[in-house]
Amino acid sequence: MTTVDDRAISLARRSRFARVREEMDRQAIDALLLSLGADLPWLSGYEAMPLERPTVLVVPRNGLATLVVPRLEAPRVRVDDDLFRLRPWNEGENPVGIIAGLAGDAKNVAVSDRMWASLVLSIRDELPSAGLIRASLVTGPIRAIKDELEIAMLRAAGAAADKVAEALLAGEIRLIGRSEADVSGEISQRLRDAGHSRVNFAIVGSGPNAASPHHEAGGRVIGRSETVVCDFGGTWSGGHDVGYCSDITRTVVTGPPSEELVELYGVLQEAQAKAVEAVSIGRRCEDIDRVGREVIDAAGYGEYFIHRIGHGIGIEEHEEPYIVSGNPTRLVGGHAFSVEPGIYLPGRMGARLEDIVVAHEDGTIPCNVVDHALRVVEA
Ligand code: ZN
Ligand code: ZN
Ligand code: ZN
Repeated sequence: MTTVDDRAISLARRSRFARVREEMDRQAIDALLLSLGADLPWLSGYEAMPLERPTVLVVPRNGLATLVVPRLEAPRVRVDDDLFRLRPWNEGENPVGIIAGLAGDAKNVAVSDRMWASLVLSIRDELPSAGLIRASLVTGPIRAIKDELEIAMLRAAGAAADKVAEALLAGEIRLIGRSEADVSGEISQRLRDAGHSRVNFAIVGSGPNAASPHHEAGGRVIGRSETVVCDFGGTWSGGHDVGYCSDITRTVVTGPPSEELVELYGVLQEAQAKAVEAVSIGRRCEDIDRVGREVIDAAGYGEYFIHRIGHGIGIEEHEEPYIVSGNPTRLVGGHAFSVEPGIYLPGRMGARLEDIVVAHEDGTIPCNVVDHALRVVEA
């Protein structure tokens, strides 16, 4: 397994900068302005706080990049001299003027998808003749392809989430008689104990609530012989400056399952397995969705599978490539994404099964290896 050390990280960032500049060249983008969102930490190792004070990494097509950052945030930046220099701005200075000055006479400028609208509008005022496009048109497809170091981080994140899923299946997390919110709290604590630096979500949907894919865990008390969908994930950083996400779903039943559930879950398990089997280099994203969906359609549950089968994952929980009908992107080694079909019977019950996988030349890498069978957890 790849070792994730500072030198490897620095080399990886160098190569990301090179790929970004190649793409800027290809699209004739003169300057890339990165602010909030994952592009900035991916390239520089620095994550901007969502403050009103602007932080922007100005990447000209040629020449050194500059991180324009509020003076009070500057101590948190670890400067890599080969990649970018620092330009702290003082209270009273006009940061947008500094950013515009660094962008020079750029005609085509790409800005972070998650840059505050207020900052985008100020930049437009300072650079009236520049055309603005979204940065993801440059960075998205590059960021979607994980390097070996990122794959190692995703595997570590997955292994940490697996520990919590194992505990769930083993009945170590008590369910019966407890509120969803309470169980969600325990899952969150266990995610942290397993090494996540941040919990991103811990969905617990029991009984009829299991039919709502993004159900917010609430006061409902879990009963016997109910399905409980647990979908959780966090960010794992292993002490490094930028972390990667985990995301796993397991559905358990708190007593002998009904025949209906056994049948439904069997269909779901087959759909998930077939979709994962279909993952291979050169295959289209939409094909993976279709392969899983066909199994569910054939069993008559098609109208109850109401979302795409998966999403890319990395520094963000949801990023490119989206595994959805209409996405013709062909898989290449390093594409990391979830495969998570679900069947939801409104007002009654639901089930979902989710793992993260990485398409790879040497064969698909599973980031989660926890058992897929429907587990009766009478705890
Ligand atoms: Zn989701
Ligand atoms: Zn999930
Ligand atoms: Zn997911």
